[in-house]
Amino acid sequence: MALQTWWPVFACAALVAVLTATLAWRRRARTPAATALAAAMAGTAVWSTADAVVYGIDAEVVRTVYPSVLMAGAGLVVASVWVLTRVVSDPSWRLTRRTAALLAVVPVLVVTTATVPATHELVLDGADSGPVVDVAFGPVFLANAAYSYVVLGVAYARLVRRWRATAGIFRRQVRVLLLTSLLATVGNVVTIAAQGEDGRIDVTPLFFLLTGLVDCWAIFRLGLLQVVPVARDRVVDTLPDAVLVVDPEGRVLDLNPAAVRLLERTRPGGSDGILGRVLHEIAGPEAVALGRVTDEDGHRVAEVAPGVWLDVRASAISDPRGRALGRIVVVRDVSEEQGRRLAVEELNRQLAEQVEEIERLRAALAEEAVRDPLTGLHNRRHLDRVLDRAPLAPLDPAPVSVLVVDVDHFKTVNDRFGHATGDQVLQAIAGVLTGAARAGDTVARFGGEEFVVVLPGVGRHEAAERAELIRGRCAALRHDGPDGALGVTVSVGVATAPDDGTGPAALLSAADRAVYAAKAAGRDRVVQSPGLAAPVG
Ligand code: GH3
Ligand code: MG
Ligand code: MG
Repeated sequence: MALQTWWPVFACAALVAVLTATLAWRRRARTPAATALAAAMAGTAVWSTADAVVYGIDAEVVRTVYPSVLMAGAGLVVASVWVLTRVVSDPSWRLTRRTAALLAVVPVLVVTTATVPATHELVLDGADSGPVVDVAFGPVFLANAAYSYVVLGVAYARLVRRWRATAGIFRRQVRVLLLTSLLATVGNVVTIAAQGEDGRIDVTPLFFLLTGLVDCWAIFRLGLLQVVPVARDRVVDTLPDAVLVVDPEGRVLDLNPAAVRLLERTRPGGSDGILGRVLHEIAGPEAVALGRVTDEDGHRVAEVAPGVWLDVRASAISDPRGRALGRIVVVRDVSEEQGRRLAVEELNRQLAEQVEEIERLRAALAEEAVRDPLTGLHNRRHLDRVLDRAPLAPLDPAPVSVLVVDVDHFKTVNDRFGHATGDQVLQAIAGVLTGAARAGDTVARFGGEEFVVVLPGVGRHEAAERAELIRGRCAALRHDGPDGALGVTVSVGVATAPDDGTGPAALLSAADRAVYAAKAAGRDRVVQSPGLAAPVG
């Protein structure tokens, strides 16, 4: 194929390179690696254009300018690839003016040598006098080629190291960059090696055409360059929270300085050799919870060491086509908040306990307030309340009876056997009254040796029977006195509402009058109000 027919191929290569450069350049705000890729593609475009023009237009001026443009394009490609691999390996790295100046030294010298008429033959010999095919590489060209291979060698070695250290989508992307860069270099080696044979042609830009196409595909389909997350150093690296990116198998793909510090605290080996390893295996025995948070629970607060609480959140990440890429694990030290929360919980618990105790005491006090301490029976205050609530009115459906029980000659018991014996007698009588009571009845100690029993729903006849039962049981009691057993009797007055009274006071005084009547009639008997004193049984 005639050399001249190659020019459209190089023109195409230039076009693709310009397109790729534009795409990359547009992404420069979101990722630091984009600028370097754009520069590399711009260099390729210059190089390809130079070849297209020199093969397409046979003019002396073209041949004169060609070496300078070619060397400028190639120099830009080499320097840009070096910067690109540097940024991909360490996204926080930035090109300084000094590094840029150092990278520019050799290309500027070579371009100058190629431009100055006195020295241009040191670069490409015969370029201005005949067809490009006859051009021979000068010593400066070869020295520059050697220098370029060293720079590219360093760059590729760095990419290989990054490729080995990383995993998942990052690994795929580094692989694409590596392969496309090597492809372009192979093209250049072929070109230089073919020097001197017939029909020499610079095929390097064609390999760059391929490189550009693959990179284009990678930018759109693999999300190349988006990976080197934007502002990673500005956002993720300065976050106080530990951020780790793990692949679907749990292998660590990336982590920020806070995560490094966290792992240094929780695992014996510090943060060395973490990339590419499974998080829950390396997190250290105490921080195993870090890696165990699954997508289902997503969030966990765990105490990884005494007093050290970690809030762990995991969220799934996927590529634009929905394929799982892994998870982002965000870990926050919440020991302080947790400490405060636990302290508040403890205070609440103590408070609840105290409230319970107070309630218990209040209930006991309330109960005590309505009980008689000697006999345990209800006292007069409670009796008043019961009678106030009792249905004593004439229209109430059921009768209510009250019994007033008074111990006979109790003063004599005290006088003869002592106050303590008197107390025991009172307690024994209280026992009889309680034993005779049924559900709903109220038994109260009304005064010194006087008791009242309220019998709701009990009519005159049954009340008299119950009174008689009580009287009989009391009379049958035997009490321990200093001189042996003694017995006491009781007199009982019975009144029934509404016949004997329709209010508490009236009912009680009717029962009282009945007791007096029983006393007057000789004691140890039951008298029913308003009836006359008549012993029952
Ligand atoms: P009557 O048959 O007329 O009822 O004679 P009585 O002696 O039982 O009546 P009185 O009202 O004269 O005496 C009641 C006595 O009860 C007087 C008091 O010392 C005694 N007493 C009152 N409360 C108690 C107490 O809690 N314990 C003891 N041991 N005696 C008490
Ligand atoms: Mg008495
Ligand atoms: Mg009395």
